Amino acid sequence: MTVWDDLVGQAAAVESLSAATADARAEIPGPAMTHAWLITGPPGSGRSTAARAFAAALMCANGGCGDCAECREVAAGSHPDVEVIRPEGVSYKTADARALVSRASMAPSRGKWHVIVLEDADRLTETANNVLLKAIEEPPPRAVWLLCTPSVEDVLPTIRSRCRHVMLKTPTPQDVADYLLASEGVDAESALFAAHASQGHVGRARALARDESARHRRREILSIPARLTNLRMCLTSAEAMVTTAKEDARAITEPLDEREREDLLLAWGEGAEGRGVKGGARGVKGALKELEDRQKSRNTRTQRDQLDRALLDLLGFYRDVLAEQFGAVTDTSSQLINAEMSSEIQRLARESDPVETMWRIDAIETARLALDANVAPQLAIEALTIDLRRPSLRRSTS
Ligand SMILES: [Zn+2]
Repeated sequence: MTVWDDLVGQAAAVESLSAATADARAEIPGPAMTHAWLITGPPGSGRSTAARAFAAALMCANGGCGDCAECREVAAGSHPDVEVIRPEGVSYKTADARALVSRASMAPSRGKWHVIVLEDADRLTETANNVLLKAIEEPPPRAVWLLCTPSVEDVLPTIRSRCRHVMLKTPTPQDVADYLLASEGVDAESALFAAHASQGHVGRARALARDESARHRRREILSIPARLTNLRMCLTSAEAMVTTAKEDARAITEPLDEREREDLLLAWGEGAEGRGVKGGARGVKGALKELEDRQKSRNTRTQRDQLDRALLDLLGFYRDVLAEQFGAVTDTSSQLINAEMSSEIQRLARESDPVETMWRIDAIETARLALDANVAPQLAIEALTIDLRRPSLRRSTS
């Protein structure tokens, strides 16, 4: 086992990152190593997995064995020389970027490199981008920056041009299925189902393979198209979708919120004898308010992510319908994303035409864009379910 094993179907990326690891070990690092990297790839392709694997490989005496103390600490997020930043709000602010840049200039405490992984670097505000640019232009000698974004367009061209680019691709269903078989110990049928249903999103595939409630939620979402028989059902389904996303988001963020609040109070000495010094109370209040704002922003984003995942499931469903209508499906089990729903897909393919299916796909994309632009989820999803029921209405409005 090595740190590269969790990178599914990314042979080219593994090759260049392990070459860099080898060159990084020389007294004067060879040409395959550099101090700034841009790791891009579609959601779920493993951008942060790649960044963490590379970070571990740079710390490990054996180039990323996956087994030594260095590798384990990087994996656990406790290595002193590897910092993983995940902007948790909707965007990453300038003050955060400044603090990060100043930490990056500190020498590594154990190893040769100080690695900073910046996940979702596309969430940096423009000024935060500029702060980062300066750090990358004049890098401290031991700092290694690993920026992760969906595509190269997500960072400033000036940053892009100073980074070595590693591009991940969407893994094939076979790659994902093989990985699930080897790593999750699931049976071949579940592995193949999860691989197709996740549409190349490895984390989602893992959840679908091992978590019945994830499969159940997905079935609920995919049962929506058949239920949109009248306006009332459109509104009810939209409400159900939004409520589920809210609940799921709360289940993810609430435990984090609570822990952070406790940590903060502890840091301010709340409850400790004689620590309630003057000004302290005001300070605690300010810090709590800042924390609550950040947590609220994270909750909004998590809720949006949950809804987007549901929309991707729906998108996959209508893509299957379209493939069926174009006669492109000769083998349902390997060519459909939702093979388990093939009879429902065939029925809808018969009862509608490809133009309507295209409109429906377009309606889903519109809803995704609306959510991304901060439109109230309820409104965006209601508009969607109404469009899905009568896609022809879109012709008169667009
Ligand atoms: Zn190791």
